[in-house]
Amino acid sequence: MPKGRAGGELLRRLPSVDQVLEGSSVRELCVRHGRAAVRRAVRETLAAARGIGRAGDEAGLEAAVAAIPAEVARRAARAAAPSLRRVINATGVVVHTNLGRAPLSEAAARRVAELAAGYSNLEYDLGSGRRGLREAHLEARLGALLGAEAALVANNNAAALLLAVDTLAAGREVLISRGELVEIGGSFRIPDVLQKGGARLREVGTTNRTRIGDYEAAVGPESGLLLRVHRSNFEIVGFTASPRLGDLVELAGRAGIPFVEDLGSGLLEPSPLLPREPAARTSLEAGVDLVTFSGDKLLGGPQAGVAAGRRHVVDAMRRNPLYRALRVDKMTLAALDAVLVDHASGEAAARVPALRMLALDAEALRSRSAGLATALETGAPELVVELRAGRSAVGGGAAPAVELPTVLVAVRHPDCSPDALARSLRAGDPAVAARVGEGALLLDLRTVDPGEEPALIRALRLACP
Ligand SMILES: *Cc1c(COP(=O)(O)O)cnc(C)c1O
Repeated sequence: MPKGRAGGELLRRLPSVDQVLEGSSVRELCVRHGRAAVRRAVRETLAAARGIGRAGDEAGLEAAVAAIPAEVARRAARAAAPSLRRVINATGVVVHTNLGRAPLSEAAARRVAELAAGYSNLEYDLGSGRRGLREAHLEARLGALLGAEAALVANNNAAALLLAVDTLAAGREVLISRGELVEIGGSFRIPDVLQKGGARLREVGTTNRTRIGDYEAAVGPESGLLLRVHRSNFEIVGFTASPRLGDLVELAGRAGIPFVEDLGSGLLEPSPLLPREPAARTSLEAGVDLVTFSGDKLLGGPQAGVAAGRRHVVDAMRRNPLYRALRVDKMTLAALDAVLVDHASGEAAARVPALRMLALDAEALRSRSAGLATALETGAPELVVELRAGRSAVGGGAAPAVELPTVLVAVRHPDCSPDALARSLRAGDPAVAARVGEGALLLDLRTVDPGEEPALIRALRLACP
């Protein structure tokens, strides 16, 4: 008998969409997920079954028909599940851009929840009962922390820099060293940002050496601003030169153009842990007119871009209509406010998770890793677990040359390759992200909160069933 015909006969055994929707378990699903979503799940389920029927697989079709309610439930639940899910970061990369960069402290997350669920004085002056300024909330705190006259917050550092260029240099030249025409994170290229800001790029010096004399030679009537960009994610080593900050400040002052520095990482004060990361306070004290940096790198807060510096520069940026498109919402302000309070308290190293993780020493990590290994011995005896010395990374395009000594928990499974283990962990809930290398799955507890360890152990016990 031709296969097509057999398939056609078989397909008559499939119920219609409406018949499936009548079933009692499917009706319950409609209450939970909504009828439209369940109808979609039914259609998908029947389409899959039809494929089996068309292939003439009688037994397969019978099984598929019997499993329709379960399959509809599975598909409806999957469609309703949140797309953004929790991930335990066992990679040891602290500011992991793909995993949402800096984790918020509990206090900051609580503030977001409190403010997000209700109304707030976002643009309301509680004293006068009149309209207030959303921008005003963090300005005083940022100013005090950074030693800046004024500050504003934009959607991210890229937005802060775009706004600065558009405000200060549209139609004019931006002077920048050839060694600083960088790309950060794949889609952020300094020359593109300058172009979008309506400015013309004026390259200064060479890739490895740029001197103050090169800037002097480039300054002219077309100059709109002098820009210095921190080479966040790479270093130029060997035969190199770049001018001192003070010389650039002096030159910009003489030329009558603003000096803007894109710092990237958001380190507020110099840190002995990250000796080559520039600090915002240092630049402002040296006389830079405006610094920009991210809220979710070493500041340890939400995605945001801070621009801080001279009052007239920041006010001009705030008056720019583009700012309306780049400003932040109340949840971001609430989280940033909380993390700035932590920095102002002088206890940031203890209170801000990203900074706490960076400061963990290998000894502390060794004892936690040993505890995890012991827990796995009883909890998941099929795993082969050992401790190895390794390195964590700062991440987020910050301090590429800094390698933090750590202790890795290397995990192997007799029936499961390290890649298969990693895949299985990614599929769990919460998902776990880990490294694979040296023939094992490698877990770095530096980026795992101690409170997440029970969930990590549970995930490892269920991995590779
Ligand atoms: C990370 C970085 C950016 C981009 O910051 P976002 O907050 O991701 O927009 C820009 N400039 C430098 C130097 C950076 O390090």
